[in-house]
Amino acid sequence: MKRAVVLLSGGLDSATVLAWMRREGYACHALSFSYGQRHGVELTRAAELAKSLGAVEHKVAEIDLRAFGGSALTADIAVPKDRDDSSIAHGVPITYVPARNTIFLSFALAYAETIGSSDIAIGVNAIDYSGYPDCRPEFIAAFERLANLATAAATEEGARLKIHTPLQELSKAGIVKLALELGVPVARTISCYDPTPAGGPCGRCDACSLRRRGFAEAGAVDG
Ligand code: ZN
Repeated sequence: MKRAVVLLSGGLDSATVLAWMRREGYACHALSFSYGQRHGVELTRAAELAKSLGAVEHKVAEIDLRAFGGSALTADIAVPKDRDDSSIAHGVPITYVPARNTIFLSFALAYAETIGSSDIAIGVNAIDYSGYPDCRPEFIAAFERLANLATAAATEEGARLKIHTPLQELSKAGIVKLALELGVPVARTISCYDPTPAGGPCGRCDACSLRRRGFAEAGAVDG
């Protein structure tokens, strides 16, 4: 069975990517990060989802991005709440973590080369790339080119690394439908940027707003 590294955050999108890669027939090695994020609950959920969705392995890499801060997710900066759709749709939000996907994909590349895999999957999508530069298709294509220059597997063995982005063209409603079709336990995923101390969603951040609208547009119930 071909192996793939799947970036898994504990959110709806990455859980859906894991389920999709399993359906594609990959043995999935899930990779999460303890990067100093304000919400540790996502790592608990990631471990749970890796297990329930049939990952063969789940690793958590420790990389503390609080050394730099610069984001509402890694520094003492308030997470924006109650923003309307046009505010969410414009500009790079303060929840952007500097260079996060470049860092995450670099770790995924090292993991993939170590286990002899040429496939990495990440849950970037059309909603995110309006605001996050490292979710754009151009970024993913450029990283794939870099990956194929970066490793001994590529230069010595001719391995061709592919980055899978099955959600790239989907709206949030499209992702919700796909998740349900693939049997993702959506109630166990956490999208919120600022969960309550008990680990529940705040209901008011951009991620909660987008998720709520996605479920509504998909005609589905969250939870
Ligand atoms: Zn929230």
